[in-house]
Amino acid sequence: NTIQRIIDTADIIDVVQDFVNLKKRGVNYLGLCPFHNEKTPSFTVSPSKGIYKCFGCGKGGNAVNFIMEHEHLGYPEALKYLAKKYNIEVVEKEQTVEEIQQQNERESLLIVSKFANSYFQENLHKSDEGRAIGLSYFKERGFRDDIIKKFELGYSPEKRDALTSWAQKSGYKLEFLEKSGLSIVSETGQYDRFRGRVMFPIHGLSGNVIGFGGRILKTDAKTAKYLNSPESEIYHKSQVLYGMFY
Ligand code: ZN
Repeated sequence: NTIQRIIDTADIIDVVQDFVNLKKRGVNYLGLCPFHNEKTPSFTVSPSKGIYKCFGCGKGGNAVNFIMEHEHLGYPEALKYLAKKYNIEVVEKEQTVEEIQQQNERESLLIVSKFANSYFQENLHKSDEGRAIGLSYFKERGFRDDIIKKFELGYSPEKRDALTSWAQKSGYKLEFLEKSGLSIVSETGQYDRFRGRVMFPIHGLSGNVIGFGGRILKTDAKTAKYLNSPESEIYHKSQVLYGMFY
């Protein structure tokens, strides 16, 4: 509730104007970007959307992101900064054992997702299967190399348990592979959810990989053409927009 109150109260123009001179330009405000050197303003603030965006360096976000970036603060510290500015009381409370467990679980899911993301990328670029099927598909569809790298596109091998077994061998627990939706555990064994697909990692606002989308490339496959990670402790579909992080 406190976080919501801070976000609702913080006025983006007001917050940014403490650091940047803004001039009204139509419905938006314009100023010199504080995050890169520029002589002509390309730093835009939208009061109606509550966000800022620099068309020079690409930095953007809401009032909390601005304070994090500008003042080099973490998320909780940035919230406290804004709370102080708007006289909103922040009640600190100790985490319960259950909350600590939940946080640890979230962190474990983020770690295993990051591992899978590197694995898929490595497969796309370095394995024969990934290059022949995945990379050639992206090239054919006109994806440039820099775009493939930027969006961290990857490839999941056809082998039934390629990721699941490699991850376990690398020390990751099946529990978190399953909870992240990367692995499926059934009576017939453990296997990968994503197989023979080009992979699109889905990033949260802070840039962590929280889920994946995969497109199958076989035309005769009896499975869904597009497949996404299921909801998890870190991936809430209604709260994420693909590409928002960028
Ligand atoms: Zn900029």
